[in-house]
Amino acid sequence: MKAMSSWPSIITSKRCMSGRFEDAIYVSLVKLEKSVLAMTKKLYWEQPYSKEFSATVVSVEGNRVVLDQSLFYPRGGGVACDTGTLNGIQVTETSKDGDRITHTLNAPPNFTVGSTVEGKVDWDRRYRLMRMHTSGHLLCSIFYSKANCRITGNQIEVDKSRMDFNLDQFDRSLIEGFVAEANRLVGQDAAVKTYFMPRDEALKLPELVKLAEAAPPNEAQLRIVEIEGIDKQADGGVHVARLKELGEIHLVKLENKGKTNRRLYYELTP
Ligand SMILES: [Zn+2]
Repeated sequence: MKAMSSWPSIITSKRCMSGRFEDAIYVSLVKLEKSVLAMTKKLYWEQPYSKEFSATVVSVEGNRVVLDQSLFYPRGGGVACDTGTLNGIQVTETSKDGDRITHTLNAPPNFTVGSTVEGKVDWDRRYRLMRMHTSGHLLCSIFYSKANCRITGNQIEVDKSRMDFNLDQFDRSLIEGFVAEANRLVGQDAAVKTYFMPRDEALKLPELVKLAEAAPPNEAQLRIVEIEGIDKQADGGVHVARLKELGEIHLVKLENKGKTNRRLYYELTP
């Protein structure tokens, strides 16, 4: 919590509180305030198509900045992060630290804790990553429904993405058929929705977790990304609103790295 020491507390004084009960309330309020401040509000979940935002600086350590809210998607789960600017200074990396998002700048910040800053997301990169990520979910759902494949690894990048999966027989034409099916579904333009669901309820849906090993995060509410009528996954990513936005998925390369590690590289056009 040392990074927050200079944060202007809304609980400025306990001079009006004197009894034991009031002391307990005061301690609870301080704890609540600290836990709320320790979280970065995920604007990229609420407004995935926004490109600019304002936020208050919560902590500055060298070139690393934490804000009270952010549109920048942090690197994680095999998905590349957003870049952009904060008050005109380049953000070169965005990462997750518990519930906080850290923005790494390429120069010392020209602001301090408590300042309001203007953030801009590199939209070309972000939109590309959104399209790549939704494409990954679509492919994954087809591999799962047609061949009961589980995903063993993935790397969502701007130009070329990768998906690893287990498949008994490494059959090139079968896999090409799955990609063709994905493009057919893109043509039908299903909506992509996100919402929260109680964990117990979500885990009753067998198709929800298609990753071979990763368990969903240990949270009471799971965030669900649904391609309407096609796929549901527990996921914290940023996605497009409709499948048409994907364009066309191209199979770039297939690699056979063993039964549990068939590897597919794909790209998108345009
Ligand atoms: Zn995902």
